[in-house]
Amino acid sequence: QHLTPAQIYHVTVMPCYDKKLEASRPDFFNQEYQTRDVDCVITTGEVLKLLEQEGVSLSDVDPAPLDTISAAEEELTSHSGGGSGGYLEHIYKHAAKELFGIQVDTIQYKPLKNKDFQEVTLEKDGVVLLQFALAYGFRNIQNLVQKLKRGKSPYHYVEVMACPSGCLNGGGQLKLGGESSKEQLQHVERLYESPRSEIPEQNQAVNELYEQWLGGAESEKAAKALHTQYHAVEKASTGFNIKW
Ligand code: SF4
Repeated sequence: QHLTPAQIYHVTVMPCYDKKLEASRPDFFNQEYQTRDVDCVITTGEVLKLLEQEGVSLSDVDPAPLDTISAAEEELTSHSGGGSGGYLEHIYKHAAKELFGIQVDTIQYKPLKNKDFQEVTLEKDGVVLLQFALAYGFRNIQNLVQKLKRGKSPYHYVEVMACPSGCLNGGGQLKLGGESSKEQLQHVERLYESPRSEIPEQNQAVNELYEQWLGGAESEKAAKALHTQYHAVEKASTGFNIKW
């Protein structure tokens, strides 16, 4: 419809308050249109609070069809690889196929110190081809950073998440009464995994986005629109800086 970014008010619902800070970074201000990439970030807990203030309960609201950019049938689908985006799993499988011609269907994680610090290794004839790790929560990130500093990190790729157990356990998530935090997390994980899981390359809407809007997956336009760059932000002098 030829709308410019400045004509779109972009709201995201996120599992943590940190996403508000992230959206306010200079990296995500669109100089060309003088607008933010994301205009408003609210957490799932804040959505619940807003609904309560309005006296609305989701169970009383009629379901509405999902918005879609595609002519394909609207269906909510999920992805494999956990509740923090599944990047490690996707990149691992893609790299195994593209670099070594090896098809990986399921990934076997090996827990290191705990379930939030795990690694996955692709081997052929006793030779390690790929070694990836995930480190969730500050304790594990600290261990990883120490490994890096000592030159002892063997990893080609690491998925780092600030929250223990990842985004589904984010600090902005709504709190359900009557369940322990462990039960609640398991509940949320089950719900998150309940839609049919799909490989991004096989998703029709993703393919249409590349073909019809972005001029193919390798185009400059796709790289500009979909890739993110972070630049160092000057440290605030709050004395709150963590020494790794
Ligand atoms: S891991 Fe936690 S802090 Fe990081 S994006 Fe997810 S919810 Fe937010």
